[in-house]
Amino acid sequence: MDERRGRRGGRWTAPAEVPGAVRAGLRDAVGLVLPVRCGGCAAPGAAWCPGCRRAAGVPLPGSGPVPGADPQVWAATACAGPVRLAVTAHKDAGRADLRPELAGLLATAMHRALVTDPGLRAARPDGTVLVVPVPTSRRAGRRRGEDAVAALTATATRRLGDPSLTCRPVLRHTRPVADQTALGRAARAANLAGSMAVRAADLRLLDHAVCLLVDDVVTTGATLAEAARALQAAGAVHVVAAVVGATPPTTSRARVSA
Ligand SMILES: [Zn+2]
Repeated sequence: MDERRGRRGGRWTAPAEVPGAVRAGLRDAVGLVLPVRCGGCAAPGAAWCPGCRRAAGVPLPGSGPVPGADPQVWAATACAGPVRLAVTAHKDAGRADLRPELAGLLATAMHRALVTDPGLRAARPDGTVLVVPVPTSRRAGRRRGEDAVAALTATATRRLGDPSLTCRPVLRHTRPVADQTALGRAARAANLAGSMAVRAADLRLLDHAVCLLVDDVVTTGATLAEAARALQAAGAVHVVAAVVGATPPTTSRARVSA
């Protein structure tokens, strides 16, 4: 098989004469042996190249939360350029090899929240902060075979190595929600209203809980707001959030669905 013929735009594609099911299997198999490409700029050689690492390492100004968000949310960096591409590839294209890099950024944002938010500081070190990943939609979760945000959150929490943190995916969707991608601010809020709840088996964890919500990206804040509402309805007394990246207001939000 001519490899060059099958590669388009940096991704391997099976020749047209190969049946669909076989093509999918071949794509997976070939992905194991072809050189990995950077999740931020598609340069060959590594999952995350030095240039993208430098770009992602540019922090947002100040150590405080992203202005105007409710609940308050801390972000490691701007969700733009390579970070935006990497977040999308991790969540939507199954690029689990980007998780260590994204988890490092997420851990940075979580640490900032833990050391600057008075509610989180008051809860530690003797108490517990419940770290809660925002659930991905049911359909997306099925398609991807795992909850990418939950896996990312668990990795970042382990990296922090803080015994006062308990990471638990206590939230679930109570009904299907539409893909947020094409929705504006008001439509996102309406789409998500009342769509999340705490799992019955985890309700006891929420009694007077102090929570650090986690998502990969904040765009309009509608997802975090609904998740915070569900946690507070179940008994949480304080909820703030941390994300890898905050979508800049001037950036097109069409491709990031949060
Ligand atoms: Zn790169």
